Amino acid sequence: MIVAKDVDKIYPNGCHALKEVSLTVNRGEVVVVVGPSGSGKSTFLRTLNQLETTSGGSIRIDGVCLQDPKTDINQIRAEVGMVFQSFNLFPHKTALENVMLAPMKVLKKSRDEAEQKGKELMLKVGLSERMHSFPSQLSGGQQQRVAIARALAMMPMIMLFDEPTSALDPEMVGEVLDVMQSLAKEGMTMVVVTHEMGFAREVADRVVFMEDGELVVEDTPENFFNNP
Ligand code: ADP
Ligand code: ADP
Repeated sequence: MIVAKDVDKIYPNGCHALKEVSLTVNRGEVVVVVGPSGSGKSTFLRTLNQLETTSGGSIRIDGVCLQDPKTDINQIRAEVGMVFQSFNLFPHKTALENVMLAPMKVLKKSRDEAEQKGKELMLKVGLSERMHSFPSQLSGGQQQRVAIARALAMMPMIMLFDEPTSALDPEMVGEVLDVMQSLAKEGMTMVVVTHEMGFAREVADRVVFMEDGELVVEDTPENFFNNP
């Protein structure tokens, strides 16, 4: 599903953020990326949907090479959903409207179709009761669940999560991780940057450890956590 090979990233300021990072993620796998701050986790995640270009190496998503100039990057971004630390919902739209927006604008769905899909997704993330609330009326955990529903509304084949619970109060972390865990159980292919080791232990098929721009360890959670 994802085949990253020798990916290099040098930022314009000279920062060498990724050094020959290679990773394969199969369909339905959950890979958790851990490592110290500044080790390149976020940069790597962003290269997977080309929010960040690469300086070397190649990335294939479902067989399509992102470095091929003929590849439609907007298509890739539609197929690779992303959830960030900050939720970035539109403040003047309700939760449901936030989720309906992309299907209408990008997938050209009718309002009725988008609304039906939106309601389905609000149910999935446990927010049926709050779908007409505005973001400011929702807790951080609820807003992040709306952000997950919004990403799912594009019917992605891969979901990327960049520290999705880092901005949340501790009591709200669990509700977001639960939604992610149920997605994983349904067979979604996921790459997750997180400091939540419980999630890595229980949900990950593999854990990768990054350090100074390099992917230094790749193992099962059992081995990763038992052989320090
Ligand atoms: P992590 O997610 O592991 O904290 P990042 O991918 O955010 O790591 O950052 C990796 C390195 O790249 C860091 O040294 C960071 O300062 C640098 N970096 C990140 N984004 C940029 C940018 N836009 N321009 C220049 N350097 C950057
Ligand atoms: P994270 O680790 O969650 O990515 P950071 O604090 O490393 O958070 O980065 C926050 C933002 O600042 C990101 O958009 C990143 O690209 C940018 N950034 C990080 N380091 C640099 C840098 N040295 N120069 C320019 N932009 C940077």
